[in-house]
Amino acid sequence: MKEILVKAAEIIIGNGEMLEDASVHVRGNRIADVGPDVKSPNAEVMDFSDRVIMPGIIDTHIHVSHDGQNPDPRESSLFTDEYLAIRGAKLAGQMLQYGITTVADAAARSDVSFAVKQAVEKGIVRGPRVLACGRMITITGGRDRIYGPNEADGIDGVRRATREELGRGADFIKLAATGAISSSRTESFSAQFTLEELRAAAEETHNVGKMAHAHAYGDAGVQNTILSGVDVVVHGHPLSDESIDMMLENKTLLMPTLVTYYESQKHHDDGDLPDYMVRKERELFPLIESGIRNSVKKGVEIVLGSDTGMPYTPFGPSTLMELELLVKMGGMSEMDAIAAGTLNAARSLKIESDTGTIAPGKSADFLILGEDINPVDDITSLQKLGAIEAVFLRGKRVIAE
Ligand SMILES: [Zn+2]
Repeated sequence: MKEILVKAAEIIIGNGEMLEDASVHVRGNRIADVGPDVKSPNAEVMDFSDRVIMPGIIDTHIHVSHDGQNPDPRESSLFTDEYLAIRGAKLAGQMLQYGITTVADAAARSDVSFAVKQAVEKGIVRGPRVLACGRMITITGGRDRIYGPNEADGIDGVRRATREELGRGADFIKLAATGAISSSRTESFSAQFTLEELRAAAEETHNVGKMAHAHAYGDAGVQNTILSGVDVVVHGHPLSDESIDMMLENKTLLMPTLVTYYESQKHHDDGDLPDYMVRKERELFPLIESGIRNSVKKGVEIVLGSDTGMPYTPFGPSTLMELELLVKMGGMSEMDAIAAGTLNAARSLKIESDTGTIAPGKSADFLILGEDINPVDDITSLQKLGAIEAVFLRGKRVIAE
């Protein structure tokens, strides 16, 4: 089995810790050892002893059926599923060069996200590890039908829909606990699934050892999500003190997807976004910062998810921008923001035994950063040209400058 020993000046582990003058020993596709005195006589030595190494970044929220450019997300309805899958595979593939080694598709029409996952797994296209939730599960009329949700009502109906998505191969489950900005006929803050319906979905998901994520805005939907046992509140804004305390008490993870609002609000006067999106975002955006800051201050566990694919969120750069905003808007330390995109992100998808930190036994997914690049000193440095010098995924160097 091929062995390599990568020497580094600093190794960011991904769990908030850092090692100095240490090495990563890779055997095959796994990390065999990491530390200051790792011995491996048979390994090929790669000397990066003036560089920083960090885990591959995990983005837990992308949409491969959207292109991240078009200001109207309904654009996807112009195309066949087959076209969306081909385009999505290409777009997700681009994320590797930004240091993103794992992505999770957080709702796509039909089988599009599963097709992208298969294409990458089979090596037809080069790309990060892909996880997919299949279709979003919503109440009847909860989303615009052009997005292809799995509509379900009542406890039995939601149970069945959850089993359906799991049966189709979903790696995690995505629920709509409230209406959405990108849906023309729903309001962001209106609660949709009841507490009991959400609980049934969470139960079915947990029965097979997977994680449930729920899209939610406003106290009613956010609190239904938390109380139901769903694992991750997606978006969550505006976050009240009461909701924050409930998340802490129930150990619910929070995925604030800051970059999607931050980029979109720059374009509110352009006239290109659908009117209903501008109206809902204008109402929401000023309320986001104080809630996320309070969540961070009180110790809610934050997960990196960018909502890449939505308007003005291109594949790759948006994930790095989300890291920056977790620091600048959320008030996180650089190290904690990195953990949000590594260990916490892995936990939110229950893949932390496989990836998310540089630790023995895990998949060898890590980045060698460019000269003078250290995200712990400056999180924006990851966005510089040449910041990601090499990307290792499952022990293979997949991107090299
Ligand atoms: Zn989304």
